[in-house]
Amino acid sequence: MYCPQCRAEYREGFSECSDCHVPLLSGAPPPDPFDPNMELVIVLETNDQVQLAMVKGLLEDAGIPFYLLGRITTLIQDVDPMLHKWIQVQVPRDREAEARELIESLTAAEPSPEVDES
Ligand SMILES: [Zn+2]
Repeated sequence: MYCPQCRAEYREGFSECSDCHVPLLSGAPPPDPFDPNMELVIVLETNDQVQLAMVKGLLEDAGIPFYLLGRITTLIQDVDPMLHKWIQVQVPRDREAEARELIESLTAAEPSPEVDES
């Protein structure tokens, strides 16, 4: 028996997780797709929510597991009352090449801001 929410294992006879108060499922918990010992690499760091959403979509479509780590930059706080939140996208090392290719295809499609209009 195990809790589908926190993945704690229970002996037979229990029917509800004492922490999450959800019904337990029978059997052993499925393997966690996110192995805490898995080596992760940062493939993108952005504060562009639109870009982030597109990258997430691409990774999801490709079936690449990823972590998002956010950190708030406060350096510009005096100038801008809005905190800029930078998000780091991390993927397992063995999917790095795949993820980078997807991200590159995305960023390459963006119009260059330095287009010569003459
Ligand atoms: Zn639980």
